[in-house]
Amino acid sequence: MNTKFDTKKKVLLHVCCAVCSATTIKILYDKYEISFYWYNPNIYDIQEYKNRKNAAIKYSEELNIPFYEEKDFSYNYFNWKNESFEKCIFCYKLRIEKTAIFAKKNRFDFFSTSLLSSPHQKHDIVKQIAINFTYKYTVEFLYKDFRKYFYDAKNSLKKRGYYIQKYCGCNKSLKQVKSRQVEVA
Ligand code: SF4
Repeated sequence: MNTKFDTKKKVLLHVCCAVCSATTIKILYDKYEISFYWYNPNIYDIQEYKNRKNAAIKYSEELNIPFYEEKDFSYNYFNWKNESFEKCIFCYKLRIEKTAIFAKKNRFDFFSTSLLSSPHQKHDIVKQIAINFTYKYTVEFLYKDFRKYFYDAKNSLKKRGYYIQKYCGCNKSLKQVKSRQVEVA
């Protein structure tokens, strides 16, 4: 007989790409009922956006995880002249806030984000932003430090032919990576 204690808690997980999704799954999959939530208007350009989204969908289908997509976006927000710390904060807030709102509206027990998976992100800031939205929207945030599984997940998906991105997302992060390549060359 099932009791309420047998029921897994429902987590709405904001996902930014397949690699970070796979990293979180290593910790969450057995313990929670997970749904993926796609909202990443920071990704430049449109082909890159599609590549990342399709990889995340493919991964969700592999594990039979529901995939919700937020289509209301414009990456013009992110056509910035300069890279800056403030823009990253804005970028995190934008994505995490939508996730918290969707989780509340659709009665998830928790929300979380795959941004906590990447060693390239500002981990403590992502965490604090999410905590702040728990108060604003009265929905629980599930915090985990997923980072130690990042490279395992990345290598595993790479071997299996998944699309792997080479920069964070916005046009400026792309330019930064390109300029580093020129410096190295
Ligand atoms: S570098 Fe990454 S986190 Fe910062 S604004 Fe660009 S896409 Fe967002």
